[in-house]
Amino acid sequence: MATATAKSPTTTTAKPPQVKDQPLLIGGKWQDSVSGKTFATVNPANGETICQVAEGDKADVDLAVKAARKAFEGPWSKMNASERGRLLNKLADLVEENAQQLAALESLDNGKPYKDSLNIDVPMSVKCYRYYAGWADKIHGKTIPVEGPFFCYTRHEPVGVVGQIIPWNFPLLMQAWKLGPALATGCTVVLKPAEQTPLTALEVARLAQEAGIPDGVLNVIPGYGPTAGAAISGHMDVDKVAFTGEHTTGQIISEAAAKSNLKRVSLELGGKSPNVVFADADLDAAVEGAYFGLFFNQGQCCCAGSRLFVEEKIHDQFVEKILKKAKAQKVGDPFDPQTTQGPQVSQEQCDRIMGYIDAGKKDGAKLLTGGNRAGGKGYYIEPTVFDGVKDEMKIAKEEIFGPVMNILTFKDADEVVRRGNQTFYGLAAAVWTRDITKAHRIANGLRAGTVWINCYDVFDAAAPFGGYKMSGHGRELGEYALELYTEVKTVYVNLQ
Ligand code: NAP
Ligand code: MG
Repeated sequence: MATATAKSPTTTTAKPPQVKDQPLLIGGKWQDSVSGKTFATVNPANGETICQVAEGDKADVDLAVKAARKAFEGPWSKMNASERGRLLNKLADLVEENAQQLAALESLDNGKPYKDSLNIDVPMSVKCYRYYAGWADKIHGKTIPVEGPFFCYTRHEPVGVVGQIIPWNFPLLMQAWKLGPALATGCTVVLKPAEQTPLTALEVARLAQEAGIPDGVLNVIPGYGPTAGAAISGHMDVDKVAFTGEHTTGQIISEAAAKSNLKRVSLELGGKSPNVVFADADLDAAVEGAYFGLFFNQGQCCCAGSRLFVEEKIHDQFVEKILKKAKAQKVGDPFDPQTTQGPQVSQEQCDRIMGYIDAGKKDGAKLLTGGNRAGGKGYYIEPTVFDGVKDEMKIAKEEIFGPVMNILTFKDADEVVRRGNQTFYGLAAAVWTRDITKAHRIANGLRAGTVWINCYDVFDAAAPFGGYKMSGHGRELGEYALELYTEVKTVYVNLQ
């Protein structure tokens, strides 16, 4: 999740911050959960508890939805759109002013290297809030030349109270992708951060209060998926649910939405994205891109280039260069400025990834490097590269979400498009070649929501992102995301 042109890391350093126990936020009030329960959020670098967090469930979600409804019908709907934009800009400014504090909190809770949080996650979140601040007073309908003596126009109205359920891999950024368009369009929000990473969502909510966003517009309910998350997706007074995470969770959420009030659903789910390197590519650039496209964020990216198709004739050269990079990876403490790979987010994810590494070995893939846990404590895994991977192997089919690269080979363009599309996912893809015709032909042929040509992981708040097939529906970011948060009202006026 970075632009290929992201600034090179600054040398700014930080220490893991001290964090107090955290309440939840309903209607502008910071409070304990109704049940009084709390849960621990854990530092993945050492497995120790960072603090206790109020554990919301159905009762808290009910209160939060009431507060969100009140704010939707009250101050938020009466506010000028330009004023909403001003408040979103103010939030962007505050996130930027608190960049170091937020980045440190993100790294503490998630495990990603501090310099990545500071140079990628925070600035991209700021840009997202600013981008949507600009949209707030530019969302409008059309006048339509209908038959008869009628004046017909459309209004793009906010969908209402929105539930947003976000994952742990990019907590700040996923919050920005969700909140930006929701607030710009005039919706109010009940947000559930992932149980593994609730801290920055709460901090951004504090900044939203400081920015002057009215009470109840943003409510934050940390808690577990099957309780707090399910209460949101099955709620009769939530108009829409937006979700990012695993496709099986997306199915549960869609079902709950369908069986309650048929609320609108948008889903950004996983992927098994093909990254295709042709022999005529700029090899060094392709190696860089393939490496970053898989190992960035400890491999915990929905759009990771996790099926790396390398044209047979450059296979040996390519592998040699990739291995050199993998061996230079510095796995360690997220707050050490030398670190390029931190721990995985949790013990559960760590075990899951190790299970995939075992499956790769069992299925006969060739382990070139890595394959083990690293460090005495914390959830570290060595950067791992499998060669000789075949389409039917488990590691070539399922989302691993860890630092495990799978190299497959191919012989020609039609073959790689066919094999690239042999997946129920369709989130992203990339192609590396100097042949412009071939590049576009492959880009057209691959069924994925984003295709990168001679780059990887380029993102911009203005450009849509989302999946084909079981990678989701709807597009986040850009003008397209406004559709997820608006209803179109058609008005006919009799002119006679
Ligand atoms: P997940 O279970 O789909 O979690 C994402 C969010 O959904 C979390 O906030 C989670 O709550 C919530 N949730 C879980 N069950 C729910 C339910 N029944 N109703 C409503 N909300 C629910 O994903 P995960 O367990 O964190 O990660 C598992 C795998 O998902 C990863 O290995 C990866 O393959 C994939 N994943 C994909 C993305 C992506 O960006 N596409 C992001 C993260 C994970 P909790 O906080 O309680 O879990
Ligand atoms: Mg989970």
